[in-house]
Amino acid sequence: MDMLEKTLPSAWKSESHPMQPFTCQNLFKGKVASEGFAHGPVKIINRDRTFEQLLSRSYDNNYSVDDFKRAVDITELQLKDLQKRVEEKLSDVASLIFTAHHLLLKDNEYVGSMLQKMEDGASAPVAILSVTKQYMDIFTHGSNSYMREKVQDLEDLSIRLLGNLVAELHEISRCEDHIVIAQELFPSDMLKLSSEKALGVVLVTGGVTSHLSILARSLEIPLVIIDSHDLIFISDETMALLDAEAGNLYVNPSRVVISSFNARNDARRRVANYKVPVKEETLTKDGTRIRLLASINLLSDLKLAREVKCEGIGLYRSEFPFLIRSDFPTEEEQYVIYRKLVESMPEKEISFRTLDIGGDKVLPYYDTAGEQNPFLGLRSIRFSLSNRELFLQQLRAMLRAGVGAQIRISFPMISSLEEFLEGKAAIIDSIDFLEKRNIPHNNNPKIGLMIEVPSVLAILDDLAHEADFFSIGSNDLVQYILAVDRTNEKVAHIYNPHHPAVLRSIKQIVETAARYETGVIMCGDMAHHELYIPFLLGTGIRELSLESGYIPKVQEIINKIDMEKAREISKELLLLNKMAEIEKLLKNGN
Ligand code: PEP
Ligand code: MG
Repeated sequence: MDMLEKTLPSAWKSESHPMQPFTCQNLFKGKVASEGFAHGPVKIINRDRTFEQLLSRSYDNNYSVDDFKRAVDITELQLKDLQKRVEEKLSDVASLIFTAHHLLLKDNEYVGSMLQKMEDGASAPVAILSVTKQYMDIFTHGSNSYMREKVQDLEDLSIRLLGNLVAELHEISRCEDHIVIAQELFPSDMLKLSSEKALGVVLVTGGVTSHLSILARSLEIPLVIIDSHDLIFISDETMALLDAEAGNLYVNPSRVVISSFNARNDARRRVANYKVPVKEETLTKDGTRIRLLASINLLSDLKLAREVKCEGIGLYRSEFPFLIRSDFPTEEEQYVIYRKLVESMPEKEISFRTLDIGGDKVLPYYDTAGEQNPFLGLRSIRFSLSNRELFLQQLRAMLRAGVGAQIRISFPMISSLEEFLEGKAAIIDSIDFLEKRNIPHNNNPKIGLMIEVPSVLAILDDLAHEADFFSIGSNDLVQYILAVDRTNEKVAHIYNPHHPAVLRSIKQIVETAARYETGVIMCGDMAHHELYIPFLLGTGIRELSLESGYIPKVQEIINKIDMEKAREISKELLLLNKMAEIEKLLKNGN
């Protein structure tokens, strides 16, 4: 049990009624999606409720047309400033993130209708809200995420506009220095919150898209998922403390909790400032060379990747620029991003992964409505193969960006030999296309696949024969072998990478790959987990791809590993058939 938790009477823990005023300390427990600490007032993002409240409120009618126009101008400047900030930090994904707001503000019909209403006698706030409501009603009929995002854009913009008009509502859209509590967030919201300098985020839904968590980690925003709708009833500005290491949210934290938090946070900062001396090469105690590669989500991750001396990029999740934008990036836009990636790591190998969307990674502008079971639906390589022109554009952008470099290209979620061969043929076609047009490109990429779907375990030989390398996507491999949703808090306790089926599958992959001299990169969270590293090395894995922040720690762990012992422990682990026994040996044996 967490130290701080012990200080709380049990009646205060977690089960408070929605209408409870939250005057004393309450503790809510959840799942950590991005680590960190935050202490500050909360801001509830419940757009529908805020909008409803604003609609039902009464307003003075003493705002002139000039006041209204001034509020429009201020809003425009704010949006430009936010866009600039987010672009400086995140050039690859942030393009046009506030575009929808801008376009609305520039839309003569939208703003013009408000002016018309004012001319007809409505007050400026009522004009803003009623016109926005009319627009929202048009979009609300759509149930897909694109439509929901449009409605949210409208709500956000009108709330911001109103805040710039009505003095007492100035703070209404302010997230700066606040812990944001929200029911639903899109990846683009996470970028907006980062540019608005939110301290941390609490999501009150049971599940969270895995990419939202990955994005929060890249943006260094603490994020905790708490399955309690009560939180949405807290009043704005209530003080809270978010401990996104333990997964705790303290509402109205006591002084004891705050001072304990401050002490821990100071220690944490000291550790963060202490630069672990990372060595160029990672060796086990007995000198076995292990390559630590960086998993990159955003271009802004590259700085840290270089600082910790990664030996290349083991996984570039190419879907991020697709996920956050409001339309598909063009081949040229993709080329610019991929080239930056290549140029940031001269002489080092770069592994691109083609688009991995679908499932929980939803493109807001692509309608996949109607999928009953999106995790088993038109996702990843299946999406690419059935949208061939998009697939070819991406492949050409990768090949062009790879000029003069060593590159690898892998396909996510491969489930059959045919799929892999079709993907491989698309690369060969793309090389042919570029060659015929004399467009500079890399004509010799290594071609591989992500091992994430259990069906490929039975056809590993056939795949190893055709592929240059395997990337084990441990996050999805565990999810699909065990049929446990990796994003569902309710089944998190049975999401066990140390299930014998998972460990034995990893062994099988490594052994088969070795017979064909096919490379293996271990990706996903298992690659940085202290508990599993000796097992992975013991089975023969020599390349790990992990988020850069973990590299110093993982290097230290590897430096202490004796390969002889790691091999023995791996063998023993593979003989065990109960998770509890495996867990015990993992903990004691390492
Ligand atoms: C994985 O599944 O382990 C993986 C690396 O891919 P992602 O986390 O992007 O699904
Ligand atoms: Mg995956």
